[in-house]
Amino acid sequence: MSHQGKVALVTGASRGIGKAIAHALGADGALVIGTATTSDGADKINHALKEANIEGCGLILNVTSKESIDAAMAHIKQHYSMPSILVNNAAVTQDNLFLRMKDEEWDTVIETNLSSIYRMTKICLRDMLKARWGRIINISSVVGSTGNPGQVNYAAAKAGLIGFTKALAQEVGSREITVNAVSPGFIDTDMTRDLSAEHREALLQRIPMQRLGQSEEVAAVVAFLASNGASYVTGQTLHVNGGMYMP
Ligand code: NAP
Repeated sequence: MSHQGKVALVTGASRGIGKAIAHALGADGALVIGTATTSDGADKINHALKEANIEGCGLILNVTSKESIDAAMAHIKQHYSMPSILVNNAAVTQDNLFLRMKDEEWDTVIETNLSSIYRMTKICLRDMLKARWGRIINISSVVGSTGNPGQVNYAAAKAGLIGFTKALAQEVGSREITVNAVSPGFIDTDMTRDLSAEHREALLQRIPMQRLGQSEEVAAVVAFLASNGASYVTGQTLHVNGGMYMP
């Protein structure tokens, strides 16, 4: 599973699943650009990559801002080459029951978790088409398939991402560019650390493996999809959820 010579861009790599993905791709030889929303976060990515002997850097990127995306991509183009592996991982939650949901909560989650994928992919795809090789991996969620009360905005974005993945896979398959989604169940990260003990217990009852997943267990699947070994896998959603949802 060697990614030697490939440039990989991982959004939201400062912590959690994105960090694990950046390190898994780097361990397989990719030059990794990981992003965070702050300079402190970007510095931490730099430091962690260096410590792991991975070539690459941390960059500031706000996936909801076209200016920020343009600035980050200009930096990447100038100092490296355009990514042939793009992992759209950055996301937020702003949970609320539907009738209480504010327009801003809807807009922020759709912009950050779905429209960002349109923007990031658009800016990276042209070079992949020229190279006739590319891997686009979008991080969805089990909630995009099952729904979850209090997460209408998040579920809509994560389900939308799966439609995006299937449609684009059909457009670019003939150029050896694969587009896939990875759909984690409940993974032990900042996003799930705030669950109440009661909620966590109820959750575990629904997971045949009776534990939350680790970020590295998601990252391993992403690294597979990015590899040459996955060259005939496209338009798919791979579920990494300890069995809690079996499509
Ligand atoms: P996390 O720990 O909350 O980390 C989120 C990452 O996204 C951070 O690096 C954050 O950067 C970045 N980010 C947030 N807003 C951004 C923006 N506007 N522009 C650019 N980057 C932004 O999340 P996680 O749990 O690792 O989740 C990673 C992915 O897996 C997400 O797509 C999430 O929806 C999905 N997922 C997670 C779970 C789970 O149980 N954890 C389950 C299913 C799916 P900063 O550090 O700078 O804020």
